[in-house]
Order: sequence, then structure tokens, then C-alpha cells
Amino acid sequence: MPREFADLTSAEVVDQVTGRTVVWPLGAIEQHGPHLPLSVDSLIAEAFAREIADIVDGYTLPVQSIAARSLPQSGGGLSFPGTIHVGGDTLIRFLREALRSLFSLPMARLVVVNGHFENEPFLFEALDQVRQQGFIGDREVFAFSWWSLVQESWLTAEITGFPGWHAEHAGVSETSLMLHLRPDLVTDLRPDHDHPPRAGLYLHPVDVDRISNRGVLSSTSGSSAELGEKLFRHVIDEGVAVLRDRDGNSSANRR
Ligand SMILES: [Zn+2]
Repeated sequence: MPREFADLTSAEVVDQVTGRTVVWPLGAIEQHGPHLPLSVDSLIAEAFAREIADIVDGYTLPVQSIAARSLPQSGGGLSFPGTIHVGGDTLIRFLREALRSLFSLPMARLVVVNGHFENEPFLFEALDQVRQQGFIGDREVFAFSWWSLVQESWLTAEITGFPGWHAEHAGVSETSLMLHLRPDLVTDLRPDHDHPPRAGLYLHPVDVDRISNRGVLSSTSGSSAELGEKLFRHVIDEGVAVLRDRDGNSSANRR
């Protein structure tokens, strides 16, 4: 049974999180083409977070869905309706303050699972500011975007013509994960975009029809629930391996 942090009472919370891992999913409300809901990044981050919390007997926080702006080269950008975002400066401040109150609790480890491409630099910046301010102490932090755990060899074996993670927005990996996790929210449309945008560029003005096919930056052909399940298991295995590896190097006794 997954443990939900927010279902605890105030009287229980200190005892329950002592020595344990708390997992915080960070997502987005962002356009994901004509076949996927706005909640993709949040639902995927939440599913990974719950699974990890379950394996390490930790607690999951509610997903944080309103996050960083969508950028054209990695998310289609704000010309597509439905993306609800805050600016990077606001996001850093928000995360920093939320993390400070979280770290006032005696958990042993915080895991942050990110599902939205543009969140990552702001998340890492906020965590490092909080660390520098002394709020983390000797607690462990493991923050990652789920795709960072995917091994190169897995990608080569499972996804043909991989366009880069920035362009996997609403592409094969996210469509497959959604077909595995929430098939009820996926339509039968499978748009392909033959010319995925290049990574690491900021261009203005933006030709929306050139960077994407209706908000899909790469290809959705070949998406399946089976591939989604494989990818889900691969990411979980890699994430748990990182946690166990760190456990092996640490004298702290964690449950
Ligand atoms: Zn996404």
C-alpha cells in the first residue's frame, strides 16, 4: 500500500517520517499534442514517485503540477493553450521555501522525481540553495528527471531514431508510458513530426508548424503499452539501484 504523506495527521507525521524516505513528484500542466492530456508530466512523475516510495517503504507527497514555462524547442511553447506555468524566478523561490519546510521534518532522505523537461535547472538550483543555507544537513537528497535514468543501451535497443530527450515531448516514450499507466487518457491519434527541433537553441520568432506537428515534437509511431511498461520498469530499476548504491556507501541506518 503506497503511503501518502498528506494523509498523515500532524500528530503522526514526525514519527512516521523519522529515518524514512519522502518522495516528491514534480510535473507540469502542459500541452502534449492532440493525443495526450495536459497532465502527462505530472501523472508520469507521480507514478514513478509512488513506485519508488513503495519499494523503499517511504512516503509520497502530492504532485506539484504548476511549474516551469514550456519552451518551444522542448515542449512546444506557450502558443498552445492549456499550459499553466510560473516563471523560473518564482519557481526557484517556491521550491526553496517548500523544501525548507519539508526539511524541518526528520526524514532521512528526500527523493524528487521530475517529469517536466524545463523544471530541472530550477529544481537543482533551489535544492543547492537550500543545502547552502544549511537546511539539509547530512540528509540524503536524490533528485532526477526520470529520463536521466534511462541507459543509452536501453534506448538503442528499444527506440529507433531516438531524437533526444528535449524532443521526446509527447513522443514515443511519453505516449508509451501513458498507454501503460493511463490508457483511458490517450486517444488513437499518433502524430509524427519528421524534423524534431534541435536541442539547446532559443529561437525567436518561432514557427510553430515547423517545430512540431500539433504540439508533438518528434514521432509517436511505435508507441505501445508494452514499451511503456518496459520503460517504467527500467527507470524504477535504475533509480532503486542508485538509492541502494548510496545506501551501501552510507553508515546511516535507513528503513
Ligand atoms: Zn512531457
